[in-house]
Amino acid sequence: MGSLAQSWRPLSVGVIGGGIGGMSAAIALRRAGHTVTIYERADFAGEVGASVSCAANGTRWLHEWEVDVAKGDPVVLKKLINRDWKTGEPVSVYDLDDYEEKWGFVYNMFHRQYMHSMLKDAAIGESGVGVPAKLVVNHQCQDIDVPSSTITFKNGNTATHDLIIGADGIGSAVRGILGIKPAKRPAEQQCLHANVSTEEAVKAGLVDYSQNSALEYWGGQEGKWDKIVLSPCNGGKLLSYYCFFPREKGDYSGHTWGAEDRPVEELLEPYPELDRQVFAHLSIGQEIKPWRLWVHDPYPYLARNNICLLGDAGHPMMPHQSQGACMAIEDAAALGIIFSQSYFDGDVTAALKVYEEVRLPRVTRVQSAAAKAAYNINERIGFSTNTNISTYKVEDEKKKLTIEEMNAYDLYRDIEQKLAVHRGHEYCGKFLNGLPLGMKLPNGVTVGES
Ligand SMILES: Cc1cc2nc3c(=O)[nH]c(=O)nc-3n(C[C@H](O)[C@H](O)[C@H](O)COP(=O)(O)OP(=O)(O)OC[C@H]3O[C@@H](n4cnc5c(N)ncnc54)[C@H](O)[C@@H]3O)c2cc1C
Repeated sequence: MGSLAQSWRPLSVGVIGGGIGGMSAAIALRRAGHTVTIYERADFAGEVGASVSCAANGTRWLHEWEVDVAKGDPVVLKKLINRDWKTGEPVSVYDLDDYEEKWGFVYNMFHRQYMHSMLKDAAIGESGVGVPAKLVVNHQCQDIDVPSSTITFKNGNTATHDLIIGADGIGSAVRGILGIKPAKRPAEQQCLHANVSTEEAVKAGLVDYSQNSALEYWGGQEGKWDKIVLSPCNGGKLLSYYCFFPREKGDYSGHTWGAEDRPVEELLEPYPELDRQVFAHLSIGQEIKPWRLWVHDPYPYLARNNICLLGDAGHPMMPHQSQGACMAIEDAAALGIIFSQSYFDGDVTAALKVYEEVRLPRVTRVQSAAAKAAYNINERIGFSTNTNISTYKVEDEKKKLTIEEMNAYDLYRDIEQKLAVHRGHEYCGKFLNGLPLGMKLPNGVTVGES
């Protein structure tokens, strides 16, 4: 694709929401030569203390954007381990030893606050390519006048931009302004999150799970909603536990993160038969908070005029593929490429159409795979390749999502293909929707063959 330097123009970009997705969008767009302002409703005082994973498809962008990943103090994952609910014995193990060699980038597990502040530094810091983004806190978007691209904030201020990005999370205001009414319902599965200090666990004579550098799961083979997910973060010093159970055992769908911590008895109550080792860890759990889970059906579009949605605002998903943050990062990367000097011809609305065509199929696929993995861990990327275990079963072998599909994906090629169609050019690349033609996926599908 030739350079469009003549028609390219720098834009004034307004990003609504300064979470993981908003910061990523600011980094990608400042690097592409645009002037970015991030409007955040909060002042970040209430950031949540849990883990967030970043697989190779997210990590690759952190490197391309020259983000100082060490600031995030990650644990580099070496394994995915699925354990028996009662005995804790491994049932399905996916080795990540050759992961970096195969995919070029590691699988990181961050603490959310560390990841957020690492991204914030890259977005607004003086060093780095482009003009540092401006962060404006205590600015809650209330409305947008679409024809004039003017945002009105709850505090009465207004701002006008050439391009507006709604990165305002699962409860997005921008989504409603764009006319999307989510079909949503409280998930059948609920979640309490707890933190355990590795030092305290070891002092109490408990197993040191941090030694495994693994994302570990208890349950998931039984077709039940119960599941414990352990993610080590902060260099292994902190163990972040997501504890899932059916809604009839406790309904937190109306709770928010800001609410008071829940008592440890409430955390343990649904798990009388759980492996005693992990149960003992949960018994010393702190900062026990409900994580409100809602299922949203896919949205029909991601952009209108010169406004688009990004991250959870555009495609909230259940957490069971650990891909929510990665999808937000990929969205941001897509915007950075589409609005770069190589691809942007000055027409914002047309560029956002391409963004939508590139992103919607991919995020919808991950969204649906995440919903399936909620009650069947064999649908979770990694475990979905372990077909040799006795309890392996997926809904549809050919439709299952695999690590190969996530990590072999080439966003540049996907954008080039969709742009070519838009501009009436012939696309001669050897890729289909970002995947190499002829690639054999573990689900038996060969890319390009129907
Ligand atoms: C239980 C659970 C576990 C998860 N684990 C993982 C994992 O391991 N790996 C992974 O990749 N993903 C994980 N996710 C998903 C991941 O956290 C999200 O997908 C990701 O944080 C989305 O980022 P975002 O920027 O779109 O939204 P958010 O991070 O929610 O940011 C939205 C921001 O917008 C601000 N905002 C909201 N409304 C307004 C407004 N009107 N005006 C201005 N600002 C506003 C908010 O204050 C916030 O700062 C998990 C999710 C859940 C529920």
